[in-house]
Amino acid sequence: MSFESLGLAPALLRALADQGYTQPTPIQAAAIPLVLEGKDLLAAAQTGTGKTAAFSLPLLQHLSTSGKTMTRRPRALVLTPTRELAAQVNDNLRSYGKHMHVSTTTIFGGVGMGPQMQALRRGVDVVIATPGRLIDHMQQRSVDLSGIEVLILDEADRMLDMGFLPALKRILSAVPRQRQTLLFSATFAAPIKALAMQFMHEPREVSVSPANTVATTVSHHVHPVDASRKRDLLLHVLSQDSRRQTLVFSRTKHGADKLVRFLEVSGLRAAAIHGNKSQNARTRALSDFKTGRITVLVATDIAARGIDIDQLPIVINFDLPMVAEDYVHRIGRTGRAGSEGLALSLVSHDESGLLRDIRKLLKQEIEITDVPGYAPSQPLRLDPGAPRPVQGQRQARPQGRPGGQNKSAPGHRPHGHANSNANGEHAAANRQRSRRGGRPAAKA
Ligand code: AMP
Repeated sequence: MSFESLGLAPALLRALADQGYTQPTPIQAAAIPLVLEGKDLLAAAQTGTGKTAAFSLPLLQHLSTSGKTMTRRPRALVLTPTRELAAQVNDNLRSYGKHMHVSTTTIFGGVGMGPQMQALRRGVDVVIATPGRLIDHMQQRSVDLSGIEVLILDEADRMLDMGFLPALKRILSAVPRQRQTLLFSATFAAPIKALAMQFMHEPREVSVSPANTVATTVSHHVHPVDASRKRDLLLHVLSQDSRRQTLVFSRTKHGADKLVRFLEVSGLRAAAIHGNKSQNARTRALSDFKTGRITVLVATDIAARGIDIDQLPIVINFDLPMVAEDYVHRIGRTGRAGSEGLALSLVSHDESGLLRDIRKLLKQEIEITDVPGYAPSQPLRLDPGAPRPVQGQRQARPQGRPGGQNKSAPGHRPHGHANSNANGEHAAANRQRSRRGGRPAAKA
């Protein structure tokens, strides 16, 4: 199958050739013809499958071949859970649309509203926004959503997890009913289906990989280790090849900062990326990582959403995530687009239960091997009574879903996903802000 056979315009085909893409990924092959036909689409595809191009290419084609561009009423809106994903979608749209005249802008928190207002005033075709900041602009009447022809919800499951449902509903009620809606989600859990039923028109469904699976090119390894020796083991692993770019996951922001300090003192070039960092610091860390100025990027789950780094050979879980699905998201950073990847987890006895959950979810072999000199004093347990860390002790995330939706719906995550949203703002402050109709709370 070729991109030509999907009916894409020559300007897009040229941009794809510039990118070095030779053939569509499965989600692109399935989604692009349906989107070009103008159908609503419910797509199950996780990061790493090529989903961004699956919606960006037909969107650019639609915008460049119909209607007026660059008016004060944007024609397409892409909603994403995090700033990083918004920035990445914007970058992708720009590179795929480089031979076309389609303008794009991002709208997210953590940076001033002024430049965003100016961009909107100048006129733009596609707005890529996180929900919280878009609501701020709606309240200030600096964005006019009455001309939206195509609405895209990217990583919709994560937006719901992050408590954005009320914001999404508000945004959905502000865009025209007559529109095309595309919803991308890693899973088709019940709340996603409910959202689709309510806001989409006879959506076609495409699913490229069964929910909760990871690329088969990723191999999974676990090194059992005492919690107190994890840092030393990490250093040992990293020093095997100190030039290799490595993404390390930490469950908490504080843990990520501590780990970076330790690695720096040990002579490695590292930086952390998490919700308490300013937007500038996050952007710098990511670009330093991409250019190789730093070799280790330590990330928390939320901050890592949407990070796009080509062919990362290895991802290390310094802590296991509390929710097995997060393991799948973390591992999405390696083994992308067919390349080989290694997912290595350093697991202490008290995390045994989390490893058990991950094994059940993955249905894939996880190789467990001791590292000589770092064998744990207590072996891992994989029986039903295996211990798990007590939330709140080793883990800073509080319980409870932001937005007060703490019910666990079938197939949905049972826990709240941190108390701060993608903009690094506290959910409670956001709720208060939306009641006040005021500006975002200052960041701590
Ligand atoms: P995404 O799932 O949108 O985050 O994309 C994952 C990665 O695959 C990105 O680095 C894209 O640049 C890359 N990609 C997307 N489509 C293709 C393609 N058809 N061929 C090769 N790489 C691709």
